[in-house]
Amino acid sequence: MTRRTEVTSDLPFLTALRRDFHTHPELGFEEERTSEIVARLLQEAGIEVHRGLGQTGVVGTLRIGNGTRAIGLRADMDALAMPEMAERPYKSTKPNVMHACGHDGHMTMLLGAARYLAKTRNFSGTVHFIFQPAEEGRGGARRMVEEGLFERFPCDAVYGLHNMPGLDIDEMAVVEGPQLASSDSWHVTFRGVGTHGAKPHLGRDPITAAGHFLSALQTIVGRVIDPLQPAVVSACSVQAGNPKALNVIPDLVEIGGTARAYTPTVRDQLETEIGRLAAGTAAMFGIEADYTFQRRIPPVVNHPDATERALSAAQVVFEGKARTQFPPSTAGDDFAFFAENAPGCYVWLGNGPATEGALHHNTRYDFNDDAIASGVDFWITLVEQELEH
Ligand SMILES: [Zn+2]
Ligand SMILES: [Zn+2]
Repeated sequence: MTRRTEVTSDLPFLTALRRDFHTHPELGFEEERTSEIVARLLQEAGIEVHRGLGQTGVVGTLRIGNGTRAIGLRADMDALAMPEMAERPYKSTKPNVMHACGHDGHMTMLLGAARYLAKTRNFSGTVHFIFQPAEEGRGGARRMVEEGLFERFPCDAVYGLHNMPGLDIDEMAVVEGPQLASSDSWHVTFRGVGTHGAKPHLGRDPITAAGHFLSALQTIVGRVIDPLQPAVVSACSVQAGNPKALNVIPDLVEIGGTARAYTPTVRDQLETEIGRLAAGTAAMFGIEADYTFQRRIPPVVNHPDATERALSAAQVVFEGKARTQFPPSTAGDDFAFFAENAPGCYVWLGNGPATEGALHHNTRYDFNDDAIASGVDFWITLVEQELEH
């Protein structure tokens, strides 16, 4: 891989920056120090800065020439509520807060590209550098969209990048179609009539109904969803009765869980079918069922056109090591909300071997600084190709 000299000479600065972010992690919507640094660096590079979108979110806008196309590049800023267990000189100084997903690296790479592009100005059009808060389940992307991100900063395409342990640092996966699953929550409450455990005929037992519901739940994936479409339904919580009152049949059983899918169709089916099963089971046992399905994050599905553009940049930077095949993840990323508003592509940048705890959300994880150069180069190349003179 041949590197741009300006990127190489910025690497010591970027590496120190990444480690500084790592030392001072902040949770979603609390990225005060982090967003301050992001805004200052963008400003120092001569980029127009907008703050306060999604509370701690930052958007940097760089307009060059008279090109009319505009693109958005996303980096996430938040850390996770977990302890860092590995010793390293730049270990987190905050108890139970840790950059265990590499968002410290994501910010660094996007800032590196912004600094370079603002200096070299070798494109024609508009780039919005989007630094989003609260990716880890707190809804940062949705907040930015709801607060007018795309009305204020219209984009013809949006791109997201996430590091991936297990791919080499000179490898990138750019794959059309589903990348990450939808991540939704569901709740069922069976309402029976409580009674003496010895006199079930005087009540309506919701526990027996719940048992039937749970044993039938996997028939949704097994019998209703297209066998060629991945889907997950899991019951993750069951609450009923009291272990100290074993002669009481309770009024209520509350069940909750998660549902995952890679297409809007399957997502809709999961919502409908879990509800149908709950209502059907309740009818069968003569009780009531309340059902809610809470849509949290849509699936991330790479758009063909945006994917082609990202791939053509990856092929320049990673040469033969740009992969077009890579399995999707059952995790979610709220980049999906951005990609609902413009053709989107989400790419996986190699982060080196997945050994010694080098896995996302592991207490020993660390973003691999050797990947910074590749990531910066990818963003730069994407912008220069996407917004060609
Ligand atoms: Zn994560
Ligand atoms: Zn992440």
